[in-house]
Amino acid sequence: MSKSKDKRIRRLKRLRIWPSVLGLFVITTIFTVVFALTIVTSLTDVMREKFVSNYEISSQLVNRHIDTNFSAQEQACQGILKDIDLSNEIQAVCVLKNGTEVWSSNGQYPDLSVRVAFTELFGPESTVSNYDMVIEEDEQTIIVKEDGQYTFNDQWIEQIDLEKEISRLEKEGNKEYEPIVSLKLWYVMPVGDLEAFVLNDIHVYIYDVVFLAAVACMVVILVIVFIIYYIITIFGVISSQKRVTKVLYTDIVTGGENRLAFARKGTKLLKRNRRNKRNYAMIHLRMEKYRSFCTCFGVREGEELLERFYRTLKKWIRRKEAMAHYEQADFALLLCYTTQEELVARIESIEQALNAITPNIKLYFGVGVCLVEQRQKDVEELYNNALSARSLLGEDAENRIAFFDVEMKKQQLWERKVEDEMERALKNKEFKVYLQPKYSAKEEKIAGAEALVRWIHPTEGFVPPNKFIPIFEKNGFILQLDDYMLEEVARQQAKWIQEGKNVVPVSVNVSRAHFTREDLAEHICGVVDKFNVPHSVIELELTESAFFDDKEVLLNTVKKLREYGFIVSMDDFGAGYSSLNSLKELQIDVLKIDADFFRGEDSVDRGMLIVSEVIDLAKKLDMKIVAEGIESREQVDFLAQQNCDLIQGYYFAKPMPLNEFEEKYNHQ
Ligand code: C2E
Ligand code: CA
Ligand code: CA
Repeated sequence: MSKSKDKRIRRLKRLRIWPSVLGLFVITTIFTVVFALTIVTSLTDVMREKFVSNYEISSQLVNRHIDTNFSAQEQACQGILKDIDLSNEIQAVCVLKNGTEVWSSNGQYPDLSVRVAFTELFGPESTVSNYDMVIEEDEQTIIVKEDGQYTFNDQWIEQIDLEKEISRLEKEGNKEYEPIVSLKLWYVMPVGDLEAFVLNDIHVYIYDVVFLAAVACMVVILVIVFIIYYIITIFGVISSQKRVTKVLYTDIVTGGENRLAFARKGTKLLKRNRRNKRNYAMIHLRMEKYRSFCTCFGVREGEELLERFYRTLKKWIRRKEAMAHYEQADFALLLCYTTQEELVARIESIEQALNAITPNIKLYFGVGVCLVEQRQKDVEELYNNALSARSLLGEDAENRIAFFDVEMKKQQLWERKVEDEMERALKNKEFKVYLQPKYSAKEEKIAGAEALVRWIHPTEGFVPPNKFIPIFEKNGFILQLDDYMLEEVARQQAKWIQEGKNVVPVSVNVSRAHFTREDLAEHICGVVDKFNVPHSVIELELTESAFFDDKEVLLNTVKKLREYGFIVSMDDFGAGYSSLNSLKELQIDVLKIDADFFRGEDSVDRGMLIVSEVIDLAKKLDMKIVAEGIESREQVDFLAQQNCDLIQGYYFAKPMPLNEFEEKYNHQ
């Protein structure tokens, strides 16, 4: 697969979910941060409030029960214990004198070794920032006044109704809610030379943070809404992407897999076949004459047939194999095989199965096989090889299987080379005109010549026309080459005429590809007239096959060419699908009998009989006869006897370069 094609497919398949995933990530992060900040700030606020109110209660408790001398100890203890019972947030009270333990309600005393500034807990903005605290290792905290002056904030004390406050705390405590935060603090109150410590376990319950909970709920709801939105978006993208992929890989005619899917799957299978555990063969299967089938039965029926082919083929595909409909009536199969015989048998069975689809119509298939070699992973190239193998079979209506071989590969490489280099070769005049003389049968003297092209390649050397003419005929370059040959011949004839040398008519080949242009005769005239040469020294050889293209153009062109004074001959008469009919309609000057009549041992007599009849017929139609490919004296004698006009063949001379021809013939 070409790189740009591969890129285009990847671009089509690329999932565009990243923006959504990124959005989801950003939104979740933002909300998480906002949520965390809200929780922290709200909790801090609640804690601060709690801290202040508990401080007030504690200071009142101390005020009420502990006097400077701590004289009425018993009584004070009783009172303190009673009040502690009322509030589950006050857990202990103790009294220290100069750091020495004096009394504790439950035997607990604070550890005075670690003191931390109050501002570290609640920040510098705190309303009670002038208090220090000591945090004990067991998370109990001691609050002490920063400047050592243990006086209470009167405002706080005034605001609080202790009994009420204690009963509120008691109620809250009885609700059996689990606090969400619990903080243990020792408040320190100075009473004369004593220090009273009150241990508070400050609880924050969920109802303390209703606002916080509301904000949290909203945040959670928002996050959920966004998450749902993004998840829906992501699923939407994924499903539309799946649809694109499906369209990309589905063949519309059969509804099955198409060539892209095949290339993807095939490449995967070949890549996974490490150490070549399995032998793979690429098969190109074509139903021959599909177009005729569609013409007879309709395009819809044709496509239905292809759909049934696909379903049938699918049944023949095993695990680790692949199959797809390519185009028209072409299918690709990547099959595993053990031996070539087994593979051929399997292909034949497949063909039988396909034929069984239309019991009343015999279908014909052409099959190309390319056995996959080690390290060959390019599915398109393998398929192309299989197709090349099949295309060499032609379109004969028979079931046949052709294997791709090294020769074909060489041919492919050669074709590519020729196509790459032909323009340059024409510009550099690497194509040379060779002339092969035509001798008169009676006098055995030169009476004409045929111009035949040769490619003198800078690295390949001498290249005969059969190695490049068919390629040029396929790619259309033959039009330029023939023009070049005609021009070179006209130039040469003009030169010889000017030099007063002996000049004979020289024929040039005109490929059937020219007969698509209606002004062909004018075009030829234009090329020749550039050199001021009489038209009678130029002969044009057309092949009979041109007759099967656009008959009208051919007939008109031949007529015009003859009117312009050119000699027109029909080349290769009798080769291939020859039809005498063409002679009836085509008025030409010369008939060139194909060399095939003079080949082969068995058919000599029959061939000669036909030749003599053709010569007779041509004479009656007022045509001259040229026999081609004459190699022996017997053939020359026979042709002379039959009144053949001219003879072209190795017996007299092979095609030769212009200078050699000039030396040999033009001085006469
Ligand atoms: P063609 O036009 O039928 O040319 C006759 C071919 O038969 C030539 O092959 C010639 O060398 C060969 N030949 C002549 N006498 C004998 C003989 O006694 N024995 C054998 N075995 N062969 C003989 P060549 O030159 O290889 O050309 C092959 C074909 O290539 C030509 O067949 C013609 O169709 C094509 N061709 C050659 N030059 C041109 C050209 O300039 N334009 C076009 N369109 N086709 C050309
Ligand atoms: Ca010819
Ligand atoms: Ca010929």
